[in-house]
Amino acid sequence: MAYLQINSQHFFSNYHQIAQFIGQENIHKIAIVLKDNAYGHGLKEMAQLAKEAKITTCFVKNTKEALEIAAMFRHITILYPQSLEDKEALQQCLKQDNIYFCVASLEALKLYPKQTKIELEINSGMNRNGIQAQQLQEAFEIINKRELELIGVFSHNGFGDDFGSEFYTQNNEFLMVKKKVLELCNQYSFKKPRFHFFSSSGALRAVRYNESLPLELQDDLFRIGIAFYGYLCQDIRFCGLNVKPIASLWARKISTYFLKKGSRIGYGGVSETKEDTLVSSYDVGYGDGLFRLREGMELKTKEGFKIYPRSSMDCLSIQGDREELCIIEDANPWAEAFGTIPYEILVHLQPTIPKKIV
Ligand SMILES: *Cc1c(COP(=O)(O)O)cnc(C)c1O
Repeated sequence: MAYLQINSQHFFSNYHQIAQFIGQENIHKIAIVLKDNAYGHGLKEMAQLAKEAKITTCFVKNTKEALEIAAMFRHITILYPQSLEDKEALQQCLKQDNIYFCVASLEALKLYPKQTKIELEINSGMNRNGIQAQQLQEAFEIINKRELELIGVFSHNGFGDDFGSEFYTQNNEFLMVKKKVLELCNQYSFKKPRFHFFSSSGALRAVRYNESLPLELQDDLFRIGIAFYGYLCQDIRFCGLNVKPIASLWARKISTYFLKKGSRIGYGGVSETKEDTLVSSYDVGYGDGLFRLREGMELKTKEGFKIYPRSSMDCLSIQGDREELCIIEDANPWAEAFGTIPYEILVHLQPTIPKKIV
């Protein structure tokens, strides 16, 4: 059976590097993003490692994910509470003191009963999710009237990976939002909510900027996802951390053949052996969420063996006859081959793939 190996040492090393960069005095600001089955790594498994690292705040995708790890964190925020139609899970989440709901529109504010703990999302320039800054007053009015509890106000910086001024324009936009929120808190006698804005790339770029702000305007959290999993998709000049991928995908042999030069393999026989060689099949395929190798794609296992296109739904053909092979050690070459980013390669891995923490 194929499995995903999670290297806990790499995880703790990544955490340590992030913590050092962010600074010991800010260590409590590190939150881990565990959405979408922890980017395919296994929600429970990653939550356990995060707990061992003494991380107390996390972000998940939906109500089910929140409930699965409810006992493991002090603060759990559901990023997309409406993405799952599960009334029972919703009711259970509403009862939990440590579970908060992201709200991205004025209409969504009206979905929740009294005392629901919410985090209000603001659009600061990505034009994706969140209310407009001009709607803040109205949002506070609704929150007050409906007696919701405002835990946080946040936005998302969409330019952390790129050189250019948009990153700073967005920082300024969110700074304005924070000032306005403090005024409104005064006006409505709300407790100051927590502020957060940066994901991995932004946080690693803007820690010092954040520290330069007056205390009450600083962000209280950094929402770190991909850096924990061992990838940085930004220019190395921004921070120079040496995070390492924590997941590797392994598969086991099903059958082996000795094939003469010129033999053809798999669907359509698109691969042809260039010499007499051993070829084996291994038990992972696109049905397990691994992207489907097509003709023309050149990918190798960690051990350096050629993977023969085309992939099948549940298996791959690979040169050699080893019992077990590491299919992916680093998602970057896969991302390149498929014209995407490591996030997408990883998050597609099916939750049913067993996880082994080493
Ligand atoms: C996914 C996500 C993050 C984490 O982003 P990374 O690039 O993986 O660090 C942070 N905030 C929000 C709102 C997200 O959806």
